[in-house]
Amino acid sequence: MSQETQSGKVSVAPERMRLNEDGTEGVFLGTKCNECGLCVLGDSVFCVRCTSGDLAAVDLSSDGTLYSYTIIHAPPAGWKGLVPYVLGSVKLPEGPQVLSEVIDLDPETIEIDMPMTMVLRAGEADDEGREITLYKWQAMGA
Ligand SMILES: [Zn+2]
Repeated sequence: MSQETQSGKVSVAPERMRLNEDGTEGVFLGTKCNECGLCVLGDSVFCVRCTSGDLAAVDLSSDGTLYSYTIIHAPPAGWKGLVPYVLGSVKLPEGPQVLSEVIDLDPETIEIDMPMTMVLRAGEADDEGREITLYKWQAMGA
């Protein structure tokens, strides 16, 4: 199954985020356990809490609240963004936490529990010339 959209954009992580046809909107993908209700980001083959294999694929919210963050002064090799930058873990209402860069936010004003929303940003092209679409966090209303 190809994850490429009509726009020629591809999700940076197709197992965790699905793009719509024109590549302008993304939806986080999760797996929910039908036994205990635990919801996790991405694919699973069994539940990490109760080990049940009775799982269902679910769409997750694109909004959440900032659970924790760190300010990165030494980025990974190949990092093309600003330094330092904020790496935030955002808790979705369904339970999973999603780690990504928090953009457009002064690190001085960042607060735990602040509402965040997922935004898409263009990354580099892949080997086939398709634009890799990244998901980032942005403060709600920013
Ligand atoms: Zn379970």
